[in-house]
Order: sequence, then structure tokens, then C-alpha cells
Amino acid sequence: RESDIKILLLENVNKTGQDILREQGYQVEAIKSSLPEDQLIEKIRDVHVLGIRSKTKLNARVLAAAKNLIVVGCFCIGTNQVDLKYAADHGICVFNSPFSNSRSVAELVIGEIISLARQLGDRSNEMHRGTWNKVSSRCWEVRGKTLGIVGYGHIGSQLSVLAEAMGMKVIYYDVTNLMSMGTAHQVSSLNELLKGADFVTLHVPELPETKNMISTAQFEQMKQGSYLINASRGSVVDIPALIDASRSGKVAGAALDVYPAEPAGNGDYFTNDLNSWAEDLRSLKNIILTPHIGGSTEEAQSAIGIEVAESLVRYVNEGVTVGAVNMPEVTLRSLTINDSDHARVIFIHQNVPGVLGRVNKVLSDHNVDKQMSDSRGDMAYMMADVSNVRQAEIETLYKDLEGLKERINGQLVLGDQ
Ligand code: NAD
Repeated sequence: RESDIKILLLENVNKTGQDILREQGYQVEAIKSSLPEDQLIEKIRDVHVLGIRSKTKLNARVLAAAKNLIVVGCFCIGTNQVDLKYAADHGICVFNSPFSNSRSVAELVIGEIISLARQLGDRSNEMHRGTWNKVSSRCWEVRGKTLGIVGYGHIGSQLSVLAEAMGMKVIYYDVTNLMSMGTAHQVSSLNELLKGADFVTLHVPELPETKNMISTAQFEQMKQGSYLINASRGSVVDIPALIDASRSGKVAGAALDVYPAEPAGNGDYFTNDLNSWAEDLRSLKNIILTPHIGGSTEEAQSAIGIEVAESLVRYVNEGVTVGAVNMPEVTLRSLTINDSDHARVIFIHQNVPGVLGRVNKVLSDHNVDKQMSDSRGDMAYMMADVSNVRQAEIETLYKDLEGLKERINGQLVLGDQ
């Protein structure tokens, strides 16, 4: 029953998320801060669902203490704070919210395109120092200029629409063939994009292939006096090469939101101790430096609350793992799950031969309407919608499945039986 589900939310999870979980009738306790490890271990012993943000470290020791835990919601983008493998091996599903802030990043980049074209950062800094410096030389309108988008995913494609609305021409490069938004045009190589763009903006994931994707050879391909924007990941741009390109005038300006090494907290200094070139970078003209704020808006926080809470509800109520970061994505679109003689069976198990045969033997007295199974590494996830199940048989089904030796902890039989 919903009222038996105990949820602990730490680190001031957004109210949008808390409301969704409370509306379900779950028992929700929300705490504003993170907890020291020993307190956390005490606190999560009997919770079924845990909601965290980036400060709560869920290592194996902590997870091992949570005897009833079935799912963790990371109300943020990253999941490095969770031991994902340990969680998966113990049947604990983990969700996050990778795309809730796409629009915020796209809007920041639009702001930066105009700011770079008009040297806004420099003019504002000068005025803050008391200097009036009215300049029009090498300041441009963006209308009619070409924006080159590298990586046309959630952020890149949003940006495409916004840039065209300002009268920019859009070209993009992506490893996948993708449908263009508006009149944007996909080009077939990174070099073609670099040669054709007045503004190059990067929206690729952090991968071995994207490390230093923009370095000396790529700056050479770019137009004289063009601009570079990186709000993707710090590893994608070779910053010493950017410093050279800026000093030589090849690049007329750049905006960086992400860095190879980033300070741990607000108020920390961005110096050579962190990145050996930090002070050279800070000394350059028309370089906008922001502290990884691409997705930092009230709207993105609220969207994260909704997205993660909805994933948690779907998992707790229906066992659906779509969007999970450490388990195979399994769902069934069942029209009958709420019928009285139906049950949804979830079986999380070791990925070894023969398990499904044994599971289906247990289910064989009933009618399996739909079934889906998928594996990821050492674990696998089976979902089946079965009919012809009487209330009294649910307990037997549960016990029989519980007795299979390959079972990994997790929920078993769900639905309004
Ligand atoms: P996404 O997964 O939706 O899109 C990435 C696109 O890049 C995909 O279309 C993919 O096919 C393409 N791609 C992958 N490898 C490529 C390669 N080698 N060359 C060309 N294209 C390639 O991702 P997204 O949500 O749009 O995010 C893009 C980037 O922005 C990620 O690195 C993400 O971490 C970062 N991000 C930064 C912030 C911030 O605060 N600055 C916020 C959110 C996301």
C-alpha cells in the first residue's frame, strides 16, 4: 500500500518533487541538509525510497545499511555520488534528471552569442572600473551570421530554434544523422562546420572521443575572428590552444562555463593551482567565464523535481525502470494492470543461465499476458503482467519467486491485485 512506503528526501529537494510524492500518499520526510555518514546510516535503515542531490555520498557502506531500499532518486544531473554498481547488484534502482535543464543552457548560450559579438563582458568590466569606452569597431549584429552547433541533442537542437529566431543561419555536426529543426543544415564533418561558422558552440557529451575535440588543428580550421562557446564539459576544449588562438586574433572571443578542473564550492578561487593556465585565461579580452551555471535556474530546479519524482512514482507503483542509470530500461504498456485478477511481477536477478525458465515455471499456473526482460552487466530485470491470479495466490507467487536462488533484493509483485 502507498501509505506503507517510507521516503526520505535530503538536501532540500525541490517542492515540486516533494508535492508529487506526498500526493501519492507515501510517508515523506524531507530534510533541508545532507547528513554525516553515521547519521545517514541510522536514518535510512528502513526507508524504501531515498531522494538526494549531489552532496550525499551513497557508498557501499551506506547502501548496505538500507535494508528496505528499492530506489534512489538523484534530484540533479550527475550520479557520481552513488555507487551505481553496488546499487544495481543489490536491486536498488537509481534515477536522475539529465535533460531538465536543456532549455536553461540553450538560453545562456544565446545570451553569450550576443555578449561576445558586442564585447559586453569587457564593456561592463570597464564601466565597473569607472572607464567609459564607447566602441563599435569589431562589434557585430548576430543577424545573418552562421552558428555552428557541435552535438545536436537536447541542448543543441533547442539552441538551433532560438538562434534561427534571431535571424542566424544554423549548421550542425553530429555523429548521428538527425532531423533538422527549422532550416538548420547538418554538415558531414567537424572541419566543414568549423570552416563555415562565425560562432562555434559545443554540446557533446564527455567521452574519450570528445576529449580535446577543439584543439590547435581545429582552431586553424575556424574563420578568422570567429567565436567559441563551451557549455558542455571541460574536457572538450584544449584551453592552452584556445589561449593561443585568442592571443593571435584567430578567435575574437570565447565563453566558457565548464573547465577540466572546477573548484569544490562557492567562494573558492579559480587559480593556477587548479588549472595551470587559469591566470592566462583570466587575463584575455572578450572571454566570458562563468562558474558552470548553464543549467542553474529556478525553472530547471523545478523541472528536476518533477522529472525525478515522477520516475520514482512509476518505479514504486509500476516497476518501470525507463530512465534508470544503473539498470536495464524495462516497461510494459499494460491495459490490465489495475484489473482485479491481474498482477505485475518484477523479478530482479543475477544474469545467469536458466533463471527465466525457473521464473516462468512459477508463473505457469497463470496467464502471462506480457513479459519483458533485459540485462545489464551482472544483473537482469524481468517484468511480467499476469492474469488469472486470485488474491490468495499472490502470496504464494511471491514466496515461490523469493525462493529462487538467483533473486536479487527488490520488489516482487505489484499492481492492484
Ligand atoms: P545529448 O545527449 O542530448 O546530446 C549530445 C549530442 O552529441 C548527441 O546528439 C550525440 O549524438 C552527439 N555526439 C556525441 N558524440 C559526438 C561526437 N564525437 N561528435 C559530434 N556529436 C557527438 O546531450 P545534451 O543534454 O544536449 O548535453 C550536451 C552537453 O551539455 C553534455 O556534455 C552535458 O553534460 C552538458 N551539459 C552542461 C550543462 C551546464 O551546466 N553547462 C548543463 C546540462 C548539460
